[in-house]
Amino acid sequence: MTSVVEPSRTLPVFGEYDVVVIGGGPAGLAASVSASRHGARTLLVERYGFLGGMGTAGGVTNFAGLYGRRDGQMKQLVRGVADELLSRIDAMGGLNKPQDGMQGRIRVRSYDTSVYKCAADQWLLAANVELLFHAWAAAVVMSDDGGRIDALVVETKSGRQAIRANAFIDCSGDADVAAFAGVPFKVGDGHGSGLFPTTMFRVGQVDAPRALEAVGEFKAINDLMAAVRERDPGAYQFPRDGAILRPQIDPREWRANVTQIRNALGKAMNGVDARELSAGEVEGRRQIAEYFRFLKAEVPGFEQSSIVEIAPQVGIRETRRITGAYALTGEDILSSARFEDCIGLNAWPMEIHGEGRIDWGFPRDAANANNDLPWRMLVPHGVGNLLVAGRCASMTHEGQSAARASGGCFVMGQAAGTAAALHGARGFDTVDVPALRRTLMADGADLGN
Ligand SMILES: Cc1cc2nc3c(=O)[nH]c(=O)nc-3n(C[C@H](O)[C@H](O)[C@H](O)COP(=O)(O)OP(=O)(O)OC[C@H]3O[C@@H](n4cnc5c(N)ncnc54)[C@H](O)[C@@H]3O)c2cc1C
Repeated sequence: MTSVVEPSRTLPVFGEYDVVVIGGGPAGLAASVSASRHGARTLLVERYGFLGGMGTAGGVTNFAGLYGRRDGQMKQLVRGVADELLSRIDAMGGLNKPQDGMQGRIRVRSYDTSVYKCAADQWLLAANVELLFHAWAAAVVMSDDGGRIDALVVETKSGRQAIRANAFIDCSGDADVAAFAGVPFKVGDGHGSGLFPTTMFRVGQVDAPRALEAVGEFKAINDLMAAVRERDPGAYQFPRDGAILRPQIDPREWRANVTQIRNALGKAMNGVDARELSAGEVEGRRQIAEYFRFLKAEVPGFEQSSIVEIAPQVGIRETRRITGAYALTGEDILSSARFEDCIGLNAWPMEIHGEGRIDWGFPRDAANANNDLPWRMLVPHGVGNLLVAGRCASMTHEGQSAARASGGCFVMGQAAGTAAALHGARGFDTVDVPALRRTLMADGADLGN
């Protein structure tokens, strides 16, 4: 027997809201705060017991895509509600000063994961967002004509429940809700693979001065790996070239972005395939044990170090991307594209995690290395009261490799939350985009020139 029929059942209604946001990553945080600030009774549904998405659950510990070049100057280009989160993390001592890399073409800010979780809790409560943790979005109930979501179905410790709302914003990263609702989507690169996942880990008790001298420069760890491989080709299994090993706020602690999770066919593990996801968790920890053996034996400053955390889950870069009114492309990133319906800026280059390596794609205009994000990438086909923000919004594989960074996800979230509060009751086909843009600018967002 390959399937069973689930009997229909009557569900209790957990509550009724103006806006329900699914997922508490960068997109969901910005969406829920923005919706609530504009007067919507807002619920955030999150499957884990803390906020931050890949930034905490995936152990990313680093904000990318906030800074980019405009008129030759490196500036913070993602503004608006993201500033509030940064300020809160900073005020709690958890935000590192900006760090430059890639010959000055990128600027990032690392942070303390625990501080991020605490700051995000208090930020959302201060914005009057209701939180429902440990609730897994599991299904939707559609209107009779199939054009709207009537209710979201969640699995909780209190059982299966329904949540009703005027508008829903899918910030699950995997477009789970959009997929339930029948929105068309693509997964990965269209050739059975996609951006490879990575299980992140952090290393503590590092001898900071020696480590900074040996591998403080962005690419130095890769030179060291190459030298060790040449000296003794069989000594270690490195999952990929292009390792990223960087100091955190306290340089005795370093984050390691070095693993790469394949499936049995050697393709990128599919984060929306239950069996692959489960096997990927085991493989990530196996690779970490192997890489840590290399760190301790070969990298100056790491001899007495220990692993302080393996991320709670394998870090997923790309799964479903919905088909929306416009799909952001790789060429949009490379050409610093401008759109009339711009809702904010992406300041991160293409970062394609392919098999065994990372390929970077920087905008041709190095002095203006940022692109507009259009409103249309948030608007899915066929479901009138749903928006999709974050790494599962409407983008091609290449476009997503850039705009998936936290900066772009904050931008998309703020626009989706604002629009849901202002237009959710009427649906998103008739949004007054110039008015939305004026509201975003009044709320501090940078919409470029
Ligand atoms: C290994 C790795 C390294 C990265 N490095 C960086 C970096 O250095 N800097 C940077 O800015 N970005 C980095 N990124 C990218 C960035 O972290 C993500 O793309 C970004 O967090 C996506 O934000 P999001 O809000 O769209 O989704 P996510 O951050 O994935 O958040 C989705 C949220 O939805 C929840 N959720 C999912 N499904 C359900 C469901 N069915 N029901 C309820 N809740 C659900 C999840 O628990 C999660 O909290 C990295 C990503 C990875 C994987």
